Amino acid sequence: MATLDTKLIDVIGDRTAKVLETGIGARSVGDLLRHYPRRYVVRGELSDISKLQPDDEVTILAQVFSVNTRTLQGRKGTILEVVVTDGTSKLSLTFFNQAWRERELRVGRQGLFAGKVSVFKGKRQLSHPDYELIADGSDVDSAIDEFAGKYLPVYPATGKLPSWKVAQCMTLAIDALDEVPDFLPDEIRFKHGYPTLKDALVGLHQPRDIAEADHARARLTFDEAFLLQLLLVVRREELHQLKSTARPVRAGGLLEAFDESLPFELTSGQRDVMAEIEVDLAASHPMHRLLQGEVGSGKTVLAIRAMLAVVDSGGQAALLAPTEVLAQQHLRTLETLLGSLAQGGMLGGAEHATQVTLITGSQNAPARKEALALAASGSAGIVIGTHALLGQSVVFADLGLIVIDEQHRFGVEQRDVLKAKAEFPPHLLVMTATPIPRTVAMTVFGDLDISTLRELPLGRQPITTHVLPAQEKPTFLDRAWSRIREEVAQGHQGYVVAPRISASAPEDADMDFLFGTTSAELTSVEELAPMLHAGPLAGLRVAMLHGQLATDVKNATMLAFSAGEIDVLVSTTVIEVGVDVPNATIMVIMDADRFGISQLHQLRGRIGRGTCPGLCLLVTNAPAETPARVRLDAVAASVDGFELSRIDLEQRREGDVLGVNQSGTRSHLRLLRVLRDESLIDLARSDAQELIASDATLSKFPELARELKILQTDEAADYIDMG
Ligand code: ADP
Ligand code: MG
Repeated sequence: MATLDTKLIDVIGDRTAKVLETGIGARSVGDLLRHYPRRYVVRGELSDISKLQPDDEVTILAQVFSVNTRTLQGRKGTILEVVVTDGTSKLSLTFFNQAWRERELRVGRQGLFAGKVSVFKGKRQLSHPDYELIADGSDVDSAIDEFAGKYLPVYPATGKLPSWKVAQCMTLAIDALDEVPDFLPDEIRFKHGYPTLKDALVGLHQPRDIAEADHARARLTFDEAFLLQLLLVVRREELHQLKSTARPVRAGGLLEAFDESLPFELTSGQRDVMAEIEVDLAASHPMHRLLQGEVGSGKTVLAIRAMLAVVDSGGQAALLAPTEVLAQQHLRTLETLLGSLAQGGMLGGAEHATQVTLITGSQNAPARKEALALAASGSAGIVIGTHALLGQSVVFADLGLIVIDEQHRFGVEQRDVLKAKAEFPPHLLVMTATPIPRTVAMTVFGDLDISTLRELPLGRQPITTHVLPAQEKPTFLDRAWSRIREEVAQGHQGYVVAPRISASAPEDADMDFLFGTTSAELTSVEELAPMLHAGPLAGLRVAMLHGQLATDVKNATMLAFSAGEIDVLVSTTVIEVGVDVPNATIMVIMDADRFGISQLHQLRGRIGRGTCPGLCLLVTNAPAETPARVRLDAVAASVDGFELSRIDLEQRREGDVLGVNQSGTRSHLRLLRVLRDESLIDLARSDAQELIASDATLSKFPELARELKILQTDEAADYIDMG
């Protein structure tokens, strides 16, 4: 008898086993049984032929309607045309030089037909389809076992492996299968009323009815959620076992001085999160926290406070930013907010002062050398940087805290590179302004504690967003430019965002996943800026900003814009995250349909940061009612980043939802959909927590421990691949 680990060649012929291995990557019985059917066709219920689209790869159940053999004109050979029907619509099947098939494809027979739909002379057809006739009682010999059931599983078709071939192999594997040890603890299984693992596997491939298939699928989907949550809960437990230096808040230090100089009161949300962070820092195991907050909710202040607390206790903090523009801005913010507190060791520096330094890829050698020395000696309490911080030459004297701003740009591996620079596991604070639904966060960042900032600081003015269909009404664009002039006349500033740098450049590298195509028509910064300067925005101070400008030009431009010396910044998405110029009140986004929902929300988060209302205009050529326009309408209709990110995620493929952070576990998620299966993930989470609380090493559940090990190994292997 076979187990799940039995090699397929031991239960199935060599040739077929080979085909299964190359076709679906299945080597063991377990691999094969984990190849799940996509749906079922019900014997006697013919597939709706009218729904078939050209180029679809289909497997349909249909009935032979007519059979006809012709000889080819002027050539040798015959053509067999078989028309099949679902009772209403018809589809023709063509075979060249296979007249003998006429003997089995008799009128009235039902069968599964698989192939790619093509159109010939206006008619849909399958040429040389694979097919399997279904026993109709009159000829029992062709009745193959797996077709004895009423529900025929349909597997994703792969090349040489039509669905029924897979089904036949499934039958052989299932017939050979012994009892399967079930890794799911009985208690949990009983609680949810799930079938055993074996019953679930058999029930999914060979259901007696749809209820059984649903039941089986529910159990197997739960398994995926449960194992993943178990992995994350175990990892959190392991983190709790690590020793790190406690950094309790101390009176009379930098932090206190900073708080006193802060020009505003923290919101109550900020205070709550701050308390959570302070408790974490005071513990002797590393903090591991994700701070997600609406754009402009004031995360940076909290990060600064955490960094100062660590500096007060003698450690260093590293702040990792996704772009140079943002790293520079963080440096300026810190220097401004800290004032003389940031001038340690310098004339005029305050008593407890520290130093803040910057490490980026583009700085010159002397500047870099100085920054590296400050980090290595510990003189710099705060080290800000881009990914250049990950470089081998960057060493710290005592790295106590890592803050990662805008996490969605950094993978877990990069986190780990930074962590390795500390002697003891450092505290970690990850910040993101792209809030994600709780269950997605639990799945993607499940090893992090999560803090959420929902409210904006008091006095924030709302941002109004309008969609401007420029093609439908060309005057809309003129209106946009005159609105910019009005804002500038009132002493405000604005952004114009375009999807690419120059006419010849491809779209911004970071352009959204949704768009494979590039269009030569897209607005570019280098064309738009002079055009605006010469025309609609003549007389205003217009400047360009994009990633290909020299670093000092970028810096000077951002500085001038912050200082109010530039009225209108024409930019790519380099300003997408973090940029904070409260006097900017208007943003015009060209070809807005080229950006994703969350990206647009991020972009417009650059305005309305001060005390004046913001206006965001989304310019598009996308026709009304198209998905692109619907996305823009969604952005215009809501300023709730959580709601928008949900809409955004719902349009993505599962792999994109999980992102790079979960590439290792992704291959284990065959059935689970993190957005759809929220309540299931919740259940799985609490089951996993309960189980680990009662048996941290899973000593009583060896099968489960084994299953978990497989998942951990696959994840680790995946990190190595990416490294
Ligand atoms: P984000 O969460 O997007 O990173 P920031 O931390 O950049 O937001 O904060 C946005 C702006 O709000 C900054 O100018 C910051 O100084 C200001 N800010 C932060 N907290 C408060 C507060 N409690 N009251 C008023 N302004 C605040
Ligand atoms: Mg920020």
